[in-house]
Amino acid sequence: MIVEMSPSATEADLRRVVRRAGVGGPEPVVVRWPGRPPVLVVPAPAVLVGEVDDLPGVHRVIVSTVPYHLAGRDFRAESTVVDVGGHLIGAGQLTVIAGPCAVESRQQLAAVATGVAATGAGMLRGGAFKPRTSPYSFQGLGVEGLRLLAEQRRITGLPVVTEALRPEDVDVVAEYADMVQIGTRSMQNFPLLQAVGRCGRPVLLKRGMSATVEEWLLAAEYVLAAGNPQVVLCERGIRTFETTSRFTLDLSVVPVLKRRTHLPVIVDPSHAAGHAYVVAPMAMAAAAAGADGVMIDVHADPERARCDAGQALTPPDFARLTADLDRLLAATRTGLALA
Ligand code: PEP
Ligand code: MN
Repeated sequence: MIVEMSPSATEADLRRVVRRAGVGGPEPVVVRWPGRPPVLVVPAPAVLVGEVDDLPGVHRVIVSTVPYHLAGRDFRAESTVVDVGGHLIGAGQLTVIAGPCAVESRQQLAAVATGVAATGAGMLRGGAFKPRTSPYSFQGLGVEGLRLLAEQRRITGLPVVTEALRPEDVDVVAEYADMVQIGTRSMQNFPLLQAVGRCGRPVLLKRGMSATVEEWLLAAEYVLAAGNPQVVLCERGIRTFETTSRFTLDLSVVPVLKRRTHLPVIVDPSHAAGHAYVVAPMAMAAAAAGADGVMIDVHADPERARCDAGQALTPPDFARLTADLDRLLAATRTGLALA
C-alpha cells in the first residue's frame, strides 16, 4: 500500500496516518521527494485502504502489487522523465550518451568530447573512479578526472555522467557531475544506493551482471525510498555461459521494464559486447526495442585506451552509428529524433 499525502497535509496529519497504517504490521516508511508532499510506503499492510484513505491530509491510497512499490506502475502509471542538467531522458527522444570508458587526460577527453558533441551525443560519459577487476589495472584519475569532465561540459555544453564507487565519494561526484552512475558491480551496495538517494542528482543505475529484473528494481527502490525520484535504469549485459561476448545483452528487459516500471530505460551495448564491431548493431537493436537511450564507449585511439580498449568506437565510427540511429528512428518510431 502507498499513501500519498496532499500538499496541504500537516506533520500531525502525517504522524496520524503513519500510526494508523502501521497497525498490526511493519512501520510505514516515509518518503520525501523534493518539492512534493510526503508519501508513505506500507510494505505489508495489515489495515484496509478504507481505514486510511479518509484520514485528514490523505490525497489517495494506492494498492501496490509489486515489492518495488515506488518504482512500479501501480504507483505511477505515467512514465517518468528525468532531467539531467536540462537534458530530458524518457521524454520520447533517444538519449545518446558517449565518451571514453575512463578519463585518462585532458587531451584524450577533449578529443572524444568534441567529436561526439558534434555528431549526435546529448550527454558525455567518462569514468573518474573506475571499478577494475584487477587491482593492478588503471583505477581512474579520481577528482582530477571529475574536474576534466566538468571542463568539457563547459566547452561542449553536454551534461556529464560518471560513476561513484564508494558512499564517501558521492558528494564530490555530485558536485562535479550532472548524473551519478552506479556500476554493475555496485548495484547491490545498499549504503551506496542510499547515499545517491540523498545526493540531489539524477542516478544512472546499471544492472548487476547477475541481477534479476526484480533485484534491479529493488535496487532502484533503495534510491527512490531514500528521497531521490530521478532514476534511469541501464541494461549492460548479464553473465551467461556464452563467452563470445563479454556479457550477454538482455534486450528483452526493455519491453519488460517498460511494462513494470515508469523509470526510463537505456542500454549500454559497449560493456555487454566487449568488441567494437558488436556495439553498433546492438545499439540499433536497443533503439528498435524501445529504449530511451544508449550509452556508447568512444575513444580517439582505442588501441591505446587504458580501460576497455576492445569495445571503444572511434569518433568516426560513432558518427556513422548516430546517423544510422537517426535513420532507424525515422523508419520505426516516426517523429522521434536523437537528443
Ligand atoms: C562503465 O560504464 O564505465 C562501467 C564500468 O560499466 P559497468 O559497471 O556496466 O561494467
Ligand atoms: Mn568500461
